[in-house]
Amino acid sequence: MAHDPHGPGSAELHDPETDPLATYVLEPDDVRPLLARVVASPGAATHTSLAPFTGAPIAAIPLSTPDDVARAARAARAAQRLWAARPLRERTAVLSRLHDLMLERQSDVLDLIQLENGKARVSAFEEICDIALVARHYAARARRYLAPRRVGGLVPALTSVQVLRHPVGVVGIIAPWNFPLTLTIGDVLPALVAGNAVILRPDPQTALTCLWAAEQLEEAGLPEGLLQIVVGDGPTVGAAVVENVDHVSFTGSTRTGRVVAAQAGGRLVPATLELGGKNPMYVADDVDIEAVAEGAVRACFVGTGQVCVSIERIYVRTEVYDEFAAAFARRTRALRLGAGLDYRADVGSLTSAAQLATVVEHVEDAIGHGATVLAGAVHRTDLGPWFYEPTILADVPAEARLAREETFGPVVALYRVSSDDEAVAAMNDSEFGLNASIWTADTARGAALARRVHAGSVNVNEGYVATWGSVAAPQGGVGASGIGVRHGREGLWETTRLQSVAVQHGVHGLVGGRGPRIGLGRLYGLGAETWPAVFTELLRAMKAARLP
Ligand code: NAD
Repeated sequence: MAHDPHGPGSAELHDPETDPLATYVLEPDDVRPLLARVVASPGAATHTSLAPFTGAPIAAIPLSTPDDVARAARAARAAQRLWAARPLRERTAVLSRLHDLMLERQSDVLDLIQLENGKARVSAFEEICDIALVARHYAARARRYLAPRRVGGLVPALTSVQVLRHPVGVVGIIAPWNFPLTLTIGDVLPALVAGNAVILRPDPQTALTCLWAAEQLEEAGLPEGLLQIVVGDGPTVGAAVVENVDHVSFTGSTRTGRVVAAQAGGRLVPATLELGGKNPMYVADDVDIEAVAEGAVRACFVGTGQVCVSIERIYVRTEVYDEFAAAFARRTRALRLGAGLDYRADVGSLTSAAQLATVVEHVEDAIGHGATVLAGAVHRTDLGPWFYEPTILADVPAEARLAREETFGPVVALYRVSSDDEAVAAMNDSEFGLNASIWTADTARGAALARRVHAGSVNVNEGYVATWGSVAAPQGGVGASGIGVRHGREGLWETTRLQSVAVQHGVHGLVGGRGPRIGLGRLYGLGAETWPAVFTELLRAMKAARLP
């Protein structure tokens, strides 16, 4: 749909005539030290990504080859052996210092995130908060999470067992472009604090942000060699990462997740897969409409809707549908859409031409199938190449692609439901199960409904920030949304391997003179028939004593 500059729509902020963004370039002297951090060979080919705000080239990033990835893995392995032997407090201290550096230097990295991703500054700030939360949490909790655990042994008092967690070794992190900091460094930190080294392969579009963060980590005290950054396309460099590591942490689409899972499975290497979503929201009949409309705007359009946990389907009770639709559309149309390295805009640009193409395709296909536009559906070429107005559709039929496929843009569909049960069934009618949101004045009702929703995280009276920001709780998907989690102790455990150590204690003289230990086979001196009878009684006694 063409832009009508006189019609209703989002306020314009970006004036290409006067905005310094139009001429915003990174100085080669600023960028060179960052680029030197990429593991690549002299004379390597380069990738130049385009700034979403303007379509102008950002910087030529050297590209790694599969041989460079193998070299990175060797260096990482050597550094990891020393790192794992260091006291845990040295590892947590790095996270603690990074927390402070992130907050102090936020404006530098906010510029980079916006430049590479195109999101509004207020959305980019979520990434700063996220790294601060994750760093603080693991700095404070890693000791507890990684502590050896004593468990009951086979023969009480005589078999003592400890369950240990060791770092896996080298963790490969493959990340998309939508959260350049959160989905890279946010996963690097737990892997490092667990005693691993990391090979990080950011998306080439957003590599500078990661390279900047690597610089900060070094300043925070991370020893050399532990974080290796490689850049290159997914099928070659991403695949080379999977080939060289002991654990894969992949974030991206379900389609690519299946490829990565198959490759990791072939190597018998575990993989954490954080994949796509088609996240639903339910608006019950007892809500404060304006508060929910405000929450829905954030849940759908933060990060220009390019957020794995953002909402793409809203089921509204018939009783409040019209009122909610009107309030939601009004607030959405009032969003300030624009470019700028400041906090004036509410919503930024899509990140690439490919992303814009998917959004346009999904919206046009839905309209072609009879959907109604309540807001947006306008490509704003006046603001930059890939700006698209936050869009609300109604009457989207089941045959439309948008009804089931992830759009990953600022587009949401509204549907009517007439009961809680119908809402739960509709929310669960998807192959995905990443995030869901339920709004009701009755929080007990919300919590009870949440348990019936097939999703890794459910937010009651919030879109996604409450679960994502509660970093002590695991965050992950079910079904086509992935396997494994990040955050919390379970997230830390993903990059560890378990080892059980059982020590069998001896009782001299008790079992005769042959050995110092109580054997777990036939006891010395007992006949072949007597030993099973004795052990049978022992098993009965253990149950009677309620031993676990
Ligand atoms: P994508 O799957 O196309 O690519 C993800 C990354 O994997 C890219 O950097 C890509 O270059 C790389 N890649 C491609 N082929 C590869 C291969 N064979 N081996 C290794 N790496 C390969 O996804 P995208 O479009 O970049 O990202 C958006 C998707 O990510 C959406 O589906 C979104 O929901 C999902 N996502 C999920 C989460 C989560 O936590 N669950 C978070 C953010 C994004």
